[in-house]
Amino acid sequence: MSRPDAYVVMGRPVAHSLSPRIHAEFARQTGENIRYSSMEIHGEFRTAALAFFAAEGKGANITLPFKQDACRFADTLTGRAQRAGAVNVLVNEGDGILGDNTDGVGFITDVRRNLGCTLANRKILLLGAGGAARGVIAPLLNESPATLVIASRNRDSAAKLCEHFADERLAAAAMQDIDQDDNAAFDIVINATSASLANQLPAVPASIFNDSALAYDMVYQPTPTVFLQWASAAGAAQLADGWGMLIEQAAESFDLWRGVRPDTRELLGETYRQELLR
Ligand code: NDP
Repeated sequence: MSRPDAYVVMGRPVAHSLSPRIHAEFARQTGENIRYSSMEIHGEFRTAALAFFAAEGKGANITLPFKQDACRFADTLTGRAQRAGAVNVLVNEGDGILGDNTDGVGFITDVRRNLGCTLANRKILLLGAGGAARGVIAPLLNESPATLVIASRNRDSAAKLCEHFADERLAAAAMQDIDQDDNAAFDIVINATSASLANQLPAVPASIFNDSALAYDMVYQPTPTVFLQWASAAGAAQLADGWGMLIEQAAESFDLWRGVRPDTRELLGETYRQELLR
């Protein structure tokens, strides 16, 4: 067999990344001849990325804190990477490096297909104004929600995102200013903060969930995150963490690189999830 094509996930830290195992599984499933490793970057992102592609690297996933560096590094950007201002996938096209962002589409696929949840005409609350929030705003707006409220600890960060995406369905709020009344009940509440990693809750009232609400935490852990436990007690009808988003964004990357879309069903199942997360 010929030498496998090389792919990496670049970040700092990166040892915890599950991407090598997920892509190894996709390669096994599809029979694609690839090797996928992790690369922790301590110096300049640009220097490391140039060296990787000069050595015939075919593609890379980019994780914290380099998604914006990757955006500047790419020779061309897809429309969705441009809108997000962040790149989580680089593709070596031979005559240049393409930057794309599959976080948003991964999230939408998870919510729509895996969770069976409609986004059109829904009232959506997005908690957080960091990179993950930024990546899902345009894909969410494409789904025609009724409103999309972005809430951050400091209202300015949410307001900046509203300004950037300039859409009449967007509104900014400070988390602590969200009212405790029925007007502030949402169909879908997305926690795009990193609070669950520190076992913390965003400072929002329990009244944000309406009777049929989906509570979605982008953080994934072996057991329900502190946010999902709280959302359940607060009456959210459906709960999901970011495992599905992780798998679906990886499948999109794989498809971009290899032109084959892996079947994500087995990886979404509890057995595989527990195997990787335990
Ligand atoms: P960033 O560091 O860019 O942003 C973190 C955000 O969380 C900021 O808005 C920050 O607010 C907010 N925040 C942190 N702690 C709290 C708190 N206690 N209360 C309220 N807000 C808080 O990270 P990312 O946006 O890139 O990622 C966010 C999370 O999403 C990460 O935990 C990551 O693991 C997860 N993620 C999951 C993915 C998946 O595939 N499932 C993909 C991408 C991300 P402030 O600015 O005020 O500090």
